[in-house]
Amino acid sequence: MAPKRILIVEDNLMNLELATDLLEAAGYYVLHAPTAREGIDTAKTAAPDAILMDIDLPDMNGLEATRLLKADPLTRDIPVAALSAFAMKEDRDNAREAGCVGYLTKPIDTRKFAGMVAELILQGDETPCL
Ligand code: MN
Repeated sequence: MAPKRILIVEDNLMNLELATDLLEAAGYYVLHAPTAREGIDTAKTAAPDAILMDIDLPDMNGLEATRLLKADPLTRDIPVAALSAFAMKEDRDNAREAGCVGYLTKPIDTRKFAGMVAELILQGDETPCL
C-alpha cells in the first residue's frame, strides 16, 4: 500500500523537522510548504491525504488559507488540521469554523502526534477537535 501523504504548511524549521521526523517514522510521506500560498498550490497539484496547517504563516493566516482550500472543489475534501500554539477555546472554535477538522497544539507532543494525525486521516470531518 502506498504511504499516506501529509502536507505540512509550516514556516518554522524546528517544528517542521520534528513533525516530519515523527510522521516519516510512522510511515507517512511528507510534503512541505513554507507559505500559505505554496501550501495551497501544493494541495492542488499533489492532492495530499491530509494537511497540517500552521496558523501564523508569513503571507497569510493559516485559517484564511484553510477557508480558501475549503472553497475550492479541488481541495475541499482534504482534511486540514490547524497546527498552532494558540489553543484557547476561541482559537479552536475559529479553526473549526474555518473548516479544520482538528487542532494540533505546539509544542508537538512527540508521543501522540503521529497517532493524532492517523485519527485525522481515518475519520476525516468526523474527527473531534484534538
Ligand atoms: Mn509559523
